[in-house]
Amino acid sequence: MTYLDYQATTPLAPEARDEMLRWLGGPDEDSFGNPHSAHRMGRSATAAVELARERVAALFPPGGRVIFTGSATEAINLAMRGLAGDGTIAASAIEHAAVLDTARALGRAHVIPVNAEGIADPAALLPADTRLVCVMQVNNEIGTVQPVAEWHARARSLGALLLCDAVQGAGKLAPPSADMIAVSAHKLHGPKGVGALWVRDGVELEPQITGGGQEQGLRSGTLSPALCAGFGAAAKLALDRRDEDAAHVEALWLRARDLFAGWDLNGSADQRWHGNLNLRLEGLDVARLMSDCRDVMFSAGSACASGSGRPSHVLRALGLTDAEAKSSIRLGFGRYTTMEDLEAAAEKLIRAATQQ
Ligand code: PLP
Repeated sequence: MTYLDYQATTPLAPEARDEMLRWLGGPDEDSFGNPHSAHRMGRSATAAVELARERVAALFPPGGRVIFTGSATEAINLAMRGLAGDGTIAASAIEHAAVLDTARALGRAHVIPVNAEGIADPAALLPADTRLVCVMQVNNEIGTVQPVAEWHARARSLGALLLCDAVQGAGKLAPPSADMIAVSAHKLHGPKGVGALWVRDGVELEPQITGGGQEQGLRSGTLSPALCAGFGAAAKLALDRRDEDAAHVEALWLRARDLFAGWDLNGSADQRWHGNLNLRLEGLDVARLMSDCRDVMFSAGSACASGSGRPSHVLRALGLTDAEAKSSIRLGFGRYTTMEDLEAAAEKLIRAATQQ
C-alpha cells in the first residue's frame, strides 16, 4: 500500500506514539490520573498536559493562549460561536466545511471569492458590518497558501477579527498573523481526537461546552493526557524537523511534477504547500481509477466531499466546470513518503489512467 493522502491525515510519528503510551495508564501504572485532580497522580498528569501545551504553543505566534479541543472542527466552532456580537462573518470560498457551514449556521455569512489560482484577494469587497474574517493558511484540497497577514490587516481596518484555520500549515510554515488560529494534531503526525485553538491575548470568548470549567472555562471535559502528550511531541518534532521535512517534500514535488507532466495542476504552483498535488486529466474517470489502483491511497477532491458525489466546492470556486472538478485527483505526500513509493504509485496511476 502506498499512502498519498497526507491532507486527509498523517501517520503517527513514532516519537508521538512513545509519548502517548506513557500516559495511557493501566492499573499497575501511576500515569492514569485525572489531570484535574489535586493529588500527586493528578499533578503529574497535569504536568504532562502543560508540557504539551507549551510545545503546541510553539506552533503559534507569541502573545496568546492555547485551548485544547477534540479536533480542529471543535476549535473552529469555539472560535466562531464563542465570539459574541452581531455582524457579518466573511469567509473565503475555499474554507473547510467546518468554517463555511458554521458561518452559515450563525446567520450573516459572506463568501469571499478566490481567483483562478485559488487565492483570496485581501482587497475584495467586504460588508461594512463584518465582525469576523475567516481565511485559512493552506487549503486542504489544492494546497494554496493565502496572504493571511494582509487579510489580518484588512480585518483590523474594519474593526473585525481574523480566524485562521492553520490545520494544513501548522508546523510546516511560519505561524500566521491572526486573532485566533485552529490546528489539528493528526495533520502533523500526532493522534486523532485532539486539536487546539490559539486565542490572542485580549480576545474574549463565551464558553461553548459548559461543565467542570476545564480549559480556562471555555471547554469543559476531562482532557486526555495521552492525546495532549502525543500532540505536544508531534508539534515539537515538526518544528525541530521543519527544514528537513520541507526539503524532502520539495524533492518529492519536483519529481511528481515531472512524472505527471501531461496533467493540469489545480491551483497556484508557487503560492502553494508543495506536499499537495491536485491534478486534472480531461475525461478521467476518478472512481474507476480508484478501483483500478486500490493499493494507492489517494483522494478525489477533498476527503470530506469524496463519496458524496458532489463536485468539490473548492474546485468550483476556481472556476472549474463540474466535469473538470470530477476529473481531478488529490495526491498528498510528506515526511514518511519515500521517493520509491511515490514513483511506483505514480506509474500505477498513470498507466491505469491512460488505459481508460
Ligand atoms: N480544516 C482543514 C483545512 C482541514 O483539512 C481539516 C481536516 O480535514 C479540518 C479543518 C478539520 O480538522 P479535524 O479533523 O481536526 O476536525
